[in-house]
Amino acid sequence: MKHFLFYVFLFLVGLTQAQQLENVDFTRVKADLSFDVNTSKVFGLVEYEFKILKSVDSIYIDAMQMHFDEILLNNEKVVYENNDKQLVVYSKYKAGETYKLSFKYEAQPKKALYFVGWDNEAPNQIWTQGQGKYTSNWLPSLDDTNDKIEFDLSVAFDSAYEVIANGNLVDKAVEAENTVWHFDMKAPMSSYLVALVIGKYNKHEEISNSGILLDMYYYPEDSLKVEPTYRYSKQMFDFLEKEIGIGYPWQNYKQIPVHDFLYAGMENTSATIFSDAFVIDSTAFVDKNYVNVNAHELAHQWFGDYVTAKSGEHHWLQEGFATYYALLAERDVFGENYYYWRLYEYAQQLMDQNRSGTSTSLFNPKSSSVTFYKRGAWVLHALREQVGDEAFKKAVKNYLEAYPFSVVETDDFISEVEKTSGMDLTEFVNAWLVQVEFPLENALESLMQSAFIQEYEMVDCELLTSKCDYYLTAPISDQAKEKVISQIPDRVTSKVFKGSLKTRQAIAQNMDKIPLNLKDDYETLLMDKSYQTIESALFHLWINFVEDRELYLSQTRGIVGFNDKNVRQLWLALALSTPLYKADEKENFLNELIGYSNPRYNFEVRLTAFNYLNSLGIFNETVFVNLVEASRHYNWQFKKYAKNMLEELSKNSNYKETILRLQNSN
Ligand SMILES: [Zn+2]
Repeated sequence: MKHFLFYVFLFLVGLTQAQQLENVDFTRVKADLSFDVNTSKVFGLVEYEFKILKSVDSIYIDAMQMHFDEILLNNEKVVYENNDKQLVVYSKYKAGETYKLSFKYEAQPKKALYFVGWDNEAPNQIWTQGQGKYTSNWLPSLDDTNDKIEFDLSVAFDSAYEVIANGNLVDKAVEAENTVWHFDMKAPMSSYLVALVIGKYNKHEEISNSGILLDMYYYPEDSLKVEPTYRYSKQMFDFLEKEIGIGYPWQNYKQIPVHDFLYAGMENTSATIFSDAFVIDSTAFVDKNYVNVNAHELAHQWFGDYVTAKSGEHHWLQEGFATYYALLAERDVFGENYYYWRLYEYAQQLMDQNRSGTSTSLFNPKSSSVTFYKRGAWVLHALREQVGDEAFKKAVKNYLEAYPFSVVETDDFISEVEKTSGMDLTEFVNAWLVQVEFPLENALESLMQSAFIQEYEMVDCELLTSKCDYYLTAPISDQAKEKVISQIPDRVTSKVFKGSLKTRQAIAQNMDKIPLNLKDDYETLLMDKSYQTIESALFHLWINFVEDRELYLSQTRGIVGFNDKNVRQLWLALALSTPLYKADEKENFLNELIGYSNPRYNFEVRLTAFNYLNSLGIFNETVFVNLVEASRHYNWQFKKYAKNMLEELSKNSNYKETILRLQNSN
């Protein structure tokens, strides 16, 4: 009997799945959440409100492997089924009526919500990533992006921590050791955009020209990094509101860095989460900064969060738009040449896809991210050129206004552009969106309007010409000069060192053999305000001038570098490889380098450490413990790296036993 019933339920679930969107409109959910960091569990008291559009016998909510209790429909007991994927609630639901479903639940999420640092030395955090992982792993919700709901979260947690979620913080109640944080959303969103972060943070506040509160979170120890990390945030926010023509659609905007995030950033509604690897100082800014990711996630607040692609075929409406509007915001900050330079780089990558036969139509839901993001951005650049600024901007505005807090398809956008421009865009859509190949010819034609790109293409020393020595000191763009230096590094003269920071960086990166007559010039690179330049210069000087190694090491001893400690870790590796340098401190150097493989550091630091330890052949119990830990990390790229390294090392009979023992222990 039980089995029979089970199959009937399965059948019913299958049936409701396809139709639920047409039958039920979930409007609001209130969730009171708490956590047990020791068992990595989430506990919740949830209340859903929904309206029945067509009379049905059941409704469901996605819920991965959860336990439920006290399930009440309109405050009464009800028949339900928990099949570990969905909670199905049976009743004679009547069209036109509104219902209230409440329940308690408990979950131990395998993904989508991460407990970080509670069992190692990493900073203690809890944070979420819904897209690609499904929020229904930690909060019973609807995976279908078409179902937009107003999510109001309340979270009880240790008062020593900051809690951040979507929407407005309307109340913060301190109760004994815990504080309860109440957040309120005014508008609905897809469940993949629900966000929660718990950790130790301070925040920097700014206010946009339109009066929106911009909260920029940072770790208490990072106050000096706030300005370079969040540089241009307000400018870009003001720019996008003006450019898009529709005010920012949400109540406030928060940005929160987290430890070992899965991606660069995620555009959760009104609460972007990003990797703390982007938390940088002023020197790092010139080589590596948060500006592009910042602008991209912000643009998603309109394109993705406010209007959401109906299905994977239209994914470019999110990523293409976010990439394009980020470029526009960056053009406002860095200028026209920067804009064309990025488009040029995107076109190169798309050309590579054409060449390798991996290009796809933009409508192919399995397209690469290069296609979704970069071809998508190119579509908008080309479309704007074709129909003109005015028609383009008006169309984007109309499109957003026509589908507020709703879902969209490509046609919804294109038809608005056809209306404002009066043009038939069939041919354009075929060439830029439908066709498999990226229309490279058309793209190049557009790029060549830029004198900056023309110059870059013209300046070429692949084959040495009489002009090449001139190019090395000529007043040409940094990019063009970098290209020439990379092609003819052996023709660099003392005069070339007088160039810009980026010119000097190109020398540091490309000149492996340093002639004696350039030694003095080259040594000045160690004092440049660029960690990339210093790293390359230190390495090359150490290789080229054996007699001066101690000198170079003393000179760079205090420099840490980027967030992955690139300069410091190179320095430690070189110091360990220079026998005469500080012999009595070697043990400390070794311990410091090994220490960087510990989970307390973010995975970029650890990856660099593992690389150096590997090339120096330093493997002790601590390194193996950290490597095995890394091979179980939730970030798949880091995990894969560690797994591959363990596999390689297991071939060495000296290590095999240790690795096996650690892999089998928990
Ligand atoms: Zn994106």
